[in-house]
Amino acid sequence: MKEIRGIVPELGKRALVVCSSSVRAVERVQPLFSALTNAGMPYSAFATHGEPTIEEVRGGTEYARSKECDLVIGFGGGSALDTGKAIAALLTNGGDPLDYLEVIGKGQPLTKPSAPYIAIPTTAGTGSEVTRNAVLGSPERRVKVSLRSPHMLPHVALVDPELTYNLPAEVTAATGLDALTQLIEAFVSVKANPMTDGICREGMHRVARSLRRAFEQGDGLPYRENWQAIVTAREDMCVAGMLSGMALANAALGAAHGLSGPLGGMFAAPHGALCAAVLPYVVEVNEQAAKERLVGSPVIPRFEQIRRAMGDLGELVQALKIPPLRSYGVMRENFPEIIEKAKASNSMKGNPVVLQDDELREVLERAL
Ligand SMILES: [Zn+2]
Repeated sequence: MKEIRGIVPELGKRALVVCSSSVRAVERVQPLFSALTNAGMPYSAFATHGEPTIEEVRGGTEYARSKECDLVIGFGGGSALDTGKAIAALLTNGGDPLDYLEVIGKGQPLTKPSAPYIAIPTTAGTGSEVTRNAVLGSPERRVKVSLRSPHMLPHVALVDPELTYNLPAEVTAATGLDALTQLIEAFVSVKANPMTDGICREGMHRVARSLRRAFEQGDGLPYRENWQAIVTAREDMCVAGMLSGMALANAALGAAHGLSGPLGGMFAAPHGALCAAVLPYVVEVNEQAAKERLVGSPVIPRFEQIRRAMGDLGELVQALKIPPLRSYGVMRENFPEIIEKAKASNSMKGNPVVLQDDELREVLERAL
């Protein structure tokens, strides 16, 4: 956190700090406030509640303007980081989020660079600190959509594994498996390329080596006997999360994100947990479909490589206690709506093979 001192003076005159209103976040953010004070940087804080919404971004942008903030710092999980990222974009571009949002908005391009934005993740997995989009929810329409622009790439990603020490096991599981889903989907994506292949392999290797330990033993630092191994596990997961963000920003995602997008819009559930719930079945159905319809495609051996790197995905998801979809209230009668929305989603475009309705239904059925 002390690095803040060297970074902020050249980026602005007054910072807006966007962070979650949870007790844990309020505790965690104090060192950032001290670092800003030590750097002589005045700041105003804006608290977010749960996953980001259009309304919240509107409110945050107005608040930033009223306080004359010209620099934004997002501190927290993917939600706080995405909210901050969207506020930084709106601050310089003006207008309303709906002017720029895809699907439900006018989809106009952002023409001006965002206000300087520093992303400081406190979870390991979403990779939001290195991506150029922010996922915002519209509760009244029960959808989640992206604000997306090359201008939205954060100016600085400050990744400090110490911020993830003692992250609750449930959050470690959901965010860690979000990272894994992003790495796997980018690895078999139609837009995969040699650069993202290397990024994905390295990321999967780190998740395979460290996610279980971070989940099972991640708390109680620094009093555990094997604290060094736990510190390494937390570091691995922070790096894997960041790599997963780079992979998704430079390749694309697939059906797990295609499905978890609408699911997250329709049901209150953490994004990472939804991705994880469908991931093992998406991989199986994709492999089957690719073998049937993409005979000889170079994507086919990649499924075997994923298995070799990660072992049994279904077993991993179970070991990390990811709840089934029905625990969020998902029912069979919701499937047609979920499938329709998934097919129209941006993420689905990266899936290695175009999945048919019955294949998507099979994924949902098995994840239910
Ligand atoms: Zn994700």
